Amino acid sequence: MKVRVSYGTAIAMGLVNARMMAKPTTAYLMTYWPGRCRNDCAFCAQARSSKADWEKLSRVTWPVFELDEVLEALPKGSFSRVCLQTIDYPDLVEDVLTLISELERAGLPISISITPVDDNVLEEFRERSVDYIGVGLDVASKRLFGKLKRGLYSWEAMWDFTERAVRTFGRGRVFVHLIVGLGETDREIVETMVQAYEMGAEVSLFAFTPIKGTPLESGRSPSLERYRRLQIARYLVEKGYSMETFAFDGDELKGFTISQDELLRILPTSVFATHGCPACNRPYYNERPKKEPYNFPFPPNRGYFEEYITRLLGSR
Ligand code: SF4
Repeated sequence: MKVRVSYGTAIAMGLVNARMMAKPTTAYLMTYWPGRCRNDCAFCAQARSSKADWEKLSRVTWPVFELDEVLEALPKGSFSRVCLQTIDYPDLVEDVLTLISELERAGLPISISITPVDDNVLEEFRERSVDYIGVGLDVASKRLFGKLKRGLYSWEAMWDFTERAVRTFGRGRVFVHLIVGLGETDREIVETMVQAYEMGAEVSLFAFTPIKGTPLESGRSPSLERYRRLQIARYLVEKGYSMETFAFDGDELKGFTISQDELLRILPTSVFATHGCPACNRPYYNERPKKEPYNFPFPPNRGYFEEYITRLLGSR
């Protein structure tokens, strides 16, 4: 059996000899299928009609290895978790169950990001070493969902899956993935975050990355300022702050109704870091190594953080 391994993970395990900018604390793996995904998400390199390099997902390259080779090398990476990402194809569930059986021998907790599966499959995952589920809602706007996430699952089906996964795995154990920069408004993305948290799920933010060979290849990544405001919004939604906390101008999030001093007091620097399952740091998943990352792989220092918040909100 074969499996894809993210480039950074492969370096950390010694399967690829190259320089690493930041060490991943989770081993990121992906199912191998000699074809494209059966869905057709407009931003995705793996999509059915994409002409992109299919070694890619977002801007990360995922070389293929024999599973045995990966299992042998896994301890060298000193990882704290395995994250198995999937593309959708007819025998996906069987393959995932086989992979879990093999991977659980490494004694690490496993997260799985997967398109909707039945409750009995979720239950089977839970009985093995899987403790977190990722849901690729990706598009944070019901208005745009059908246009950009063309495939087998509707907006409603994705939320139904989220709800069932929370029921099986518990509150806080399901991460809804949202991509910032697909044409959604700030209001839509904040409302989608509220919907996820009210359901007992968590939210992981990603930045849209245009990939050559996909319908959105000429799109633009979001500005860092917009992304930072939404990272702060995500944290406030998680902590139960109401919609009144967000200062919208039309549908654009301009700032917050609580004072800057209060924000600095309540926000941890991890607000700007990757937010996902325990030990997930996803280095350079959607950023270029020489640019400031959208999601820092480790929380930035307090000085940088305070200066950034002051610049971001003080300039208004
Ligand atoms: S379901 Fe996932 S892998 Fe498949 S096209 Fe959509 S984003 Fe890509």
